[in-house]
Amino acid sequence: MRAPGGGEVVGVVALAGEGQAVVALVSLEKLLAQQAPWWVAEKHAVAIVDVDDAPLATRARAAADPAIAPYKMAIGDATQGLFVSLAAYPRPTNLVRNALLGAIGALALVTAVALWTRARHLRRRREAELRLREEYAFRTAMENSLTVGMRARDLQGAVTSVNPAFCRMVGWSQEELVGTRPPMPYWREEDIERTRAFHDSVLEGRAPKNGMELRFRRRDGTEFDALVYEAPLIDAQGRQKGWIGSFVDVTARKQAEALAREQSETLERTARLVTIGEMASLVAHELNQPLAAISGYTAGMLNLVDAGAADEAAMRGALSKSAEAARRAGRIIQRVQDFVRRSEPRREPFDLAALARECVEFFQRDAADVVVTLDLAADAPPALGDRVLIEQVIINLLRNAGEATGAQAERRIAVSLTVEGEDLAFSVADNGPGLSPEIEARLFTPFATTKRTGMGLGLTICRSILEVHRGRLTGANAAGGGAVFAFRLRGAGPEPAQGRAVA
Ligand code: ADP
Repeated sequence: MRAPGGGEVVGVVALAGEGQAVVALVSLEKLLAQQAPWWVAEKHAVAIVDVDDAPLATRARAAADPAIAPYKMAIGDATQGLFVSLAAYPRPTNLVRNALLGAIGALALVTAVALWTRARHLRRRREAELRLREEYAFRTAMENSLTVGMRARDLQGAVTSVNPAFCRMVGWSQEELVGTRPPMPYWREEDIERTRAFHDSVLEGRAPKNGMELRFRRRDGTEFDALVYEAPLIDAQGRQKGWIGSFVDVTARKQAEALAREQSETLERTARLVTIGEMASLVAHELNQPLAAISGYTAGMLNLVDAGAADEAAMRGALSKSAEAARRAGRIIQRVQDFVRRSEPRREPFDLAALARECVEFFQRDAADVVVTLDLAADAPPALGDRVLIEQVIINLLRNAGEATGAQAERRIAVSLTVEGEDLAFSVADNGPGLSPEIEARLFTPFATTKRTGMGLGLTICRSILEVHRGRLTGANAAGGGAVFAFRLRGAGPEPAQGRAVA
């Protein structure tokens, strides 16, 4: 039968009793859809056909192969003319089969490659994890063995992590420190402002590059000095998460520095005492001359008075000479006193050429037969230093030169002053025998002398005086024979411009 809305239906009549019947109409399509299992339809085209094999309803995924006869089975009584037919699908052609096989092969290959890639990925991941664990263990070991204290803080200044060295340094445990905010328990109350200022400057990103030295108090009350360096703490995404600070305990270094300072001061005092000793010897040496002169002049004057020949002019001359000698002795003593009182040598401009002339004149009073030639640069600027001390040096050099030329038929000394850049170069050369080999290397060693009555102090003192002037005394044999002693002094240079900048 055909249903009014289209589609084949089959009528079922059931007798319900006397003259009554119930008619049920079932759609063949629905019947097939509900009753034929899908896996059957997957393998065979299922259809309900009539006697002429005309399909009334079908459930199939494709058209059946017409070359193969379908299998038919009557529904109910065969005379009713309704059959279920199962027809074979056309067999897949070679091309389709090959394509299918190819697809399966490709799929298997893709799966194999995917599996292999995954295995490789897993292996790499395991290796990376192992490396990470090793790296972490290495870092932890390194962190634990560090003697430098490390402390990390977040951007608000709260402690996020500390290493064991830091805990040892301050005496608080990791659990106690993590999460604390300033003021920290190890800050000194008396330094709280300074420490806070440093702390704030770090949070504002103005941490001093060379670190900052701060003093902290341990839990047990003892104190230590630490050099603190702060650097930004950057995470894997390149964002700043906070600050990392390293604390280097510099207490021992500071103590060593203080000790070294103390030692150097002691050494300086000792050196000064040695110099004072040298100076005392020089004073004795130097004072001898003016005192001898004074006693000579007074003896002469006494003789004149005794003989009744003491005329005023002679007395005046002798008196003024002994007065000058006494003044010289006074000046020498004055300088020694100044030196002992730790006063720095004077640094005043003075005319070195004029001083050289005075010294030569003074020297020649006792050594008139020595020919002294002076070659003094006329344009020499004033020298900078202590005139009286330099006078001692020049007189000493002249005396040594004079003594060295003692055995010469013609005794000659050449004094020269030249300008070399900003310096004044001064030298005293003689025509004596030169430096004897045994003294050459020990010229400036105290008590090194070749003279019977010498003290071997003169040159040592001269060198000390020049060192105080940041100069250097040298002594050597001259190419043409004899010895030459030379030193350099700083020129006073042009006067610095006086005046004030006008705003
Ligand atoms: P002193 O004159 O008491 O010996 P110095 O320190 O002045 O002490 O001199 C040390 C030594 O240097 C002298 O003994 C001498 O041998 C040597 N010396 C110094 N000046 C000269 C010189 N112009 N020529 C040769 N030798 C010199």
